[in-house]
Amino acid sequence: MGHKAVCLECKVSFTQGTDFRNRREVNCPHCHIPMILLPHRFKPPKKSENKKWETVKFLINKGFYYQHIYEYEKDIRQNYVAYPTDLKEAKEFVNKYQNQAIK
Ligand SMILES: [Zn+2]
Repeated sequence: MGHKAVCLECKVSFTQGTDFRNRREVNCPHCHIPMILLPHRFKPPKKSENKKWETVKFLINKGFYYQHIYEYEKDIRQNYVAYPTDLKEAKEFVNKYQNQAIK
């Protein structure tokens, strides 16, 4: 499984192959800032979907790098929670799953 290298400024993403493992970082070919690495399951919005990109940016800033987030019921781990694509839902998501954020 590869990763996706994402540039939030240019709203682009590239799938990285297995040889990527050996590279510490990759810079965006457009703006040359270091790209953010996200798991393969991250589905980038279309370039024109500004609101969705804003949501992605918000989630990453809060420590949600599209890692698996779990729902808990009576302290028992349940299924993965789907990531929101809407900013309003994202704010609720961040509050609810704060303790699972990457610091
Ligand atoms: Zn860029």
